[in-house]
Amino acid sequence: TKSRLQNTPFSYFEMGTDEMIQRELNILNQLQFGIKNKELTVYLQPKINLLTNEIEGFEALARWNSPVLGNVSPAEFIPIAEKSGKINEIDNLILRKVLIFQNHRQTNGLKMIPIAVNISPVHFYSESFINDFLSLVAEYHISPHYIKIEVTESVELFDFVKAKEILLELKKLGYESSIDDFGVGFSSLSYLQQLPFSEIKIDRSFINDIENSDMHAVVQTIVQLADKLRMHVVAEGIETSEQYSILQKIGCKSGQGFYFHKPMPLEEAQNLLDSISEK
Ligand code: C2E
Ligand code: MG
Ligand code: MG
Ligand code: MG
Repeated sequence: TKSRLQNTPFSYFEMGTDEMIQRELNILNQLQFGIKNKELTVYLQPKINLLTNEIEGFEALARWNSPVLGNVSPAEFIPIAEKSGKINEIDNLILRKVLIFQNHRQTNGLKMIPIAVNISPVHFYSESFINDFLSLVAEYHISPHYIKIEVTESVELFDFVKAKEILLELKKLGYESSIDDFGVGFSSLSYLQQLPFSEIKIDRSFINDIENSDMHAVVQTIVQLADKLRMHVVAEGIETSEQYSILQKIGCKSGQGFYFHKPMPLEEAQNLLDSISEK
């Protein structure tokens, strides 16, 4: 029913199969309009240096407020966009918004920090990714240092040769890439070592359970491994001071999470950056 459609967060647990199919169809239909009518926006979540507490970057996260469906989480609409061939357009739209943000700061001589965009593996492995990416960044003249990409590993799509080729090309041009949600997917360590990622982002589910001694050991091992491979390591989803202090002790150098900042609208991120540069 209508009122139910407008309820967020949306719960698939309460739905039957028919309802789930209907919901997906609704999202798919509305997403077409949403992309065209600029209903998608970007939020930025700060990435924190855990040694100094300073903000060292942002991650760009898509937000969708549909006049028909209300707020729809990317956790829900990104997989549907991936299945229906809409994901490249969404990634590119978010990247463009980030480039415009950075370009504005650069043009006005304001403080800049790197911003990471999420690229779906569906898009990353598609024929058009490198061209999409390079032609978009070429429009805005931002130093590659200020744009990063995050790719979630995907068991189904993983292609070692292609991943290496794309990552190397990006690296040659000065763009750094992160492996996102590390630990929950494929994560073959021998592949990881051979792929030119500069950063590992440890999945939020690991950080959530870090007070458990087994999980503590797992995260510690990932951090030590990253150090050996000379990769930067970021803990995702830090929500409590206990998690924060464990990560500091383990030697994890960066983190993100609601404990520090939730993702925020661009204007708020502008103000936050401006307040830092005044200090
Ligand atoms: P992700 O890239 O792993 O992003 C981190 C997610 O964790 C974000 O969810 C963020 O809001 C959430 N998060 C951050 N800190 C905390 C915390 O302390 N606690 C909890 N519970 N959550 C936290 P969000 O924004 O809902 O995005 C979900 C996923 O959707 C992202 O996971 C990413 O895979 C995908 N996504 C978002 N925007 C884009 C996009 O522009 N393109 C693509 N391809 N995927 C996107
Ligand atoms: Mg990410
Ligand atoms: Mg992800
Ligand atoms: Mg992640």
